[in-house]
Amino acid sequence: MQITGEMLIGASSVRGTEGQQQAFDPCMDQFIATPTFGMGGQAEVDRAAQLAAQAFDPYRQLSLAKRAEFLELIADNIMALGDALIERAMAESGLPLVRLQGERGRTVGQLRLFAKVVRDGRFMSPAIDHAQPERMPLPRADLRLAKMALGPVAVFGASNFPLAFSVAGGDTASALAAGAPVVVKAHSAHLGTSEMVGRAIQKAVRDLGLPEGVFSLLMGAGRKLGEALVAHPVIKAVGFTGSRQGGLALMRIANARPEPIPVYAEMSSINPVFLMPAALAARAESIGRGFADSLTMGAGQFCTNPGMVVVIGDRNVQRFIDAASQALATKPAQTMLTPGIHQAFDTGVAKVDGVEGVEKVAQGQPADGLHNAAQAALYVTDVQRLLSSPVLQEEMFGPASIVIRARNFDEVLELAEQLEGQLTVTLQIDPADYADAQRLIPVLERKAGRILANGFPTGVEVCHAMVHGGPFPSTSNAMFTSVGASAIDRFLRPVCYQDLPDVLLPAAVQQANPQGLARVINGDLVAR
Ligand code: NAP
Repeated sequence: MQITGEMLIGASSVRGTEGQQQAFDPCMDQFIATPTFGMGGQAEVDRAAQLAAQAFDPYRQLSLAKRAEFLELIADNIMALGDALIERAMAESGLPLVRLQGERGRTVGQLRLFAKVVRDGRFMSPAIDHAQPERMPLPRADLRLAKMALGPVAVFGASNFPLAFSVAGGDTASALAAGAPVVVKAHSAHLGTSEMVGRAIQKAVRDLGLPEGVFSLLMGAGRKLGEALVAHPVIKAVGFTGSRQGGLALMRIANARPEPIPVYAEMSSINPVFLMPAALAARAESIGRGFADSLTMGAGQFCTNPGMVVVIGDRNVQRFIDAASQALATKPAQTMLTPGIHQAFDTGVAKVDGVEGVEKVAQGQPADGLHNAAQAALYVTDVQRLLSSPVLQEEMFGPASIVIRARNFDEVLELAEQLEGQLTVTLQIDPADYADAQRLIPVLERKAGRILANGFPTGVEVCHAMVHGGPFPSTSNAMFTSVGASAIDRFLRPVCYQDLPDVLLPAAVQQANPQGLARVINGDLVAR
């Protein structure tokens, strides 16, 4: 497939006229010569939004089977792009082959998962309470609930997942599954990859004869095109993964609209790992090595990267630090996604370096001529220093982490209470630690969306039970997840139909149950 540098607005390819941008290869530290990408602005936002508005009713009223077929066809079309897609994503992101092949598998896997979710129909929560005309003292009306899509959704592609959290990523897949048209703002770090995936979706729209406005792909500056998209009255929700600053900016715009809309922003998390004493005594070395692997995976550019380790005591803690330090010392520096992200990492590390009472205990291998490459780093401090230095709780997006020494378990609890909201918290734990864990877990449940035992937080399974969310600032809305089947809930709202004639009801709650859905009828779950 030839990359043209055009945006995809409905069925059309449109060359933006609000400036140009070239893609950048962070490994070579140079621009990719051709093509140049034309940036869009308000006019393109207006056109994409208008088409999305026109597509909304016909798209959401498609049969569930057809909507599922659409998601599966997108997955097939992405696979049909073959190696060219992986090669382009490698050039634009600096990520290695195996990682991107895995990410493509996750991307098509989540499209297929959502196809299954759509066919199943439970996402609509269909419920029927039959009329009770004889009920005393007042009769009950016939009441039927089915969820429908909120309306067209704006999706901001993420820098760190050029496939799985970008044009056809989790936000797009879950919004399309909900019945919402999607307008994507491509991330400027991977414009060519975005165009290729966008064309795979555009082809699926065309081949199935769907309304063209079901999908558009825009390119342009966040502060111009991105802001205009969030402010557009047609857009009814926003999906975002990126910086806290960016997420907060979009939330402000969304809240200042005449009709405020939800922004589902996944922003920053340091994913504390608690090393409980018995577990540490039993296996400090293997925990240290596993931690170093998790910290450096993908140059640490995961939202679930373990940026903090909490420990109690001395002797076994030192065993852990020694093992982690030795493992880290062998880890090569890795090119980061963009020069900006690399610079932000260096700035974050320099800030921690400057805090009194924080000691750097280990480093990875230096960059040695690699461009935009991050050198891993491990720091140690204590609970009281952490609590008095807010900078130590800031995310260092990259392979850097800080070990926090506690004198006793009460200090661990004090620290846990002061944590900001997190995507994950991890416990390394053995049976002898369970009594302490019973005091800690209620605090951690208030702080995080996922609690793990004896693993590391990187690696997010896409499945029904996953929660990739958490209290602010890990996300803007702790009530939802952005990964897994429940991610569809972000883009749905319930509608109750009271005494409507059967023929006017959505199929999900019609008497004959033409889609064969499981439904709650008069309070009882009735299988299909
Ligand atoms: P970002 O700067 O927040 O940008 C993400 C997207 O939002 C881009 O498309 C950007 O547009 C847009 N945007 C940013 N600020 C905006 C604003 N004020 N108004 C409208 N749109 C705006 O994130 P990034 O480029 O991915 O990386 C920068 C930093 O974010 C990293 O160094 C890291 O600290 C953090 N990050 C965190 C995670 C995580 O999962 N926790 C993931 C990725 C990044 P442009 O195209 O104009 O840039």
